Amino acid sequence: MSEFEMVVGLEVHVELKTRSKIFCSCPTRFGGDPNAHICEVCAGLPGALPRLNKKVLDYAIMTSLSLHCEVTKESRFDRKNYFYPDLPKGYQISQLYAPIGRNGYMDIDISDPAGSSAVKRIRIHELHMEDDAGKLIHDETGNRTMIDFSRCGVPLLEIVTEPDFRSPEEVVSFLTELRTMLKFIGVSDCKMQEGSLRADVNLSVRAAGDPVLGTRTEMKNLSSFRAVSKAIGYESARQWEIVRNGGTIDRETRRWDEEKEASFAMRKKEDAAEYKYFPEPDLPVLRITGEKIDELRCVLPELPQDRRKRYIEELHLPEYDAGILTANKEITVLFERTAEICGDPKEASNWIMVDLMKLLNDTGTLPEDLKIRGSSLGEIIVLVKDGKVSRASGKELLKAAFMEDAIPSEYADQHDLWLISDEKLLEEIVEKVLENNEKARNEYLAGKTKNFQFLLGQAMRETKGKADPGLLRKILEEKM
Ligand code: ADP
Ligand code: MG
Ligand code: ZN
Repeated sequence: MSEFEMVVGLEVHVELKTRSKIFCSCPTRFGGDPNAHICEVCAGLPGALPRLNKKVLDYAIMTSLSLHCEVTKESRFDRKNYFYPDLPKGYQISQLYAPIGRNGYMDIDISDPAGSSAVKRIRIHELHMEDDAGKLIHDETGNRTMIDFSRCGVPLLEIVTEPDFRSPEEVVSFLTELRTMLKFIGVSDCKMQEGSLRADVNLSVRAAGDPVLGTRTEMKNLSSFRAVSKAIGYESARQWEIVRNGGTIDRETRRWDEEKEASFAMRKKEDAAEYKYFPEPDLPVLRITGEKIDELRCVLPELPQDRRKRYIEELHLPEYDAGILTANKEITVLFERTAEICGDPKEASNWIMVDLMKLLNDTGTLPEDLKIRGSSLGEIIVLVKDGKVSRASGKELLKAAFMEDAIPSEYADQHDLWLISDEKLLEEIVEKVLENNEKARNEYLAGKTKNFQFLLGQAMRETKGKADPGLLRKILEEKM
């Protein structure tokens, strides 16, 4: 057993995929000139009044439901006051006293690679809505900083977990699962590099077995799962080194430096009182009805974890297949349509897990850029199963559908991939082969069974390898 234990809780910020901002109608879209997408509301001009984007509330409730949170019936916004140049209003509109979601959970997979499968429940403390701040741009000379306010007012959800994590692996597993889920329900793209998913890590250490929590630090600027994992390793070792030597941990906010692979103190941690939170007077209380919640529950797609279970229990797929097929929305959609068209989930899974994954790997394509349609893959599987094309030609069709969205039957026409399944024609060919190989045939009839394979090979060669192998075999058996 190790001598210390780490305790981690996450604050995850998710940028919502709405077209307009949270309190005004400016577009959320990135790019364009700095400050191209601002108005008096998001730029914080005096007297401008915010109005809540309905879509943001819908997404927040959908996410709350997906994380098994209680949806707050009377939810409110609060002002979090602080001064920083990227915040033109001088306060962030957030939710402190009555966040939209509370007391949820998400189960994560903590199976070890050796095979024992296990699940751990991570409790969600709360989920709230807030607006994003602008971006500071430091120019190369280092003596000038510019501000782009276009990101001000982009809607965010903050998801706060309880301090339930005990290892970097658990944290990464949670973030992976959360990202998959948010993409599934369509509320966010969750691109960590682009900052649409940002995870701050709260971490403390204590002697193994100690029931009392240690003082925590909060770490920011983690831009990949790898960074999260490295930062947790670094910070827990740093803290334990101090505690072990009788020192104390400062309650502070630290910044992860990706290049130096180290964390550095940024500022002393403020507590809620220092932000002088108070209720936002310009926005009304949100009264959420049961009907509203039911309505949103109805539009929620089946969640990845539920799908995984269904694939195993109802489609009888191996756990491994189910895990991979549900790790990504595009793959799941492709799988379900393919299985529906070909009527064989296991075969659909095999083609996706083996042949399609290889194409993705070889070409460095991301699942979200997949062009192939389930209807095409389903058709290819049926063509192979029915002996219309060979397995090898099936792969060629898959590649064409994958690369250029080719329609399988048209591509097979153009490239002459069809197997000969015309019985009359095959019968003629077999007869000809038997005539030309009298000796082999007679030996076979006298008991030399392996000649069958030879004759079959000859017949196949006559068709230039294009015969439906099952049918050809059947005809040869009959003719002998
Ligand atoms: P604050 O109000 O200061 O932001 P919260 O109580 O909201 O603090 O907690 C913020 C995050 O810190 C949560 O994710 C929580 O799980 C985590 N956390 C709280 N206490 C500890 C601790 N002792 N060690 C590690 N994480 C902690
Ligand atoms: Mg907090
Ligand atoms: Zn605006």
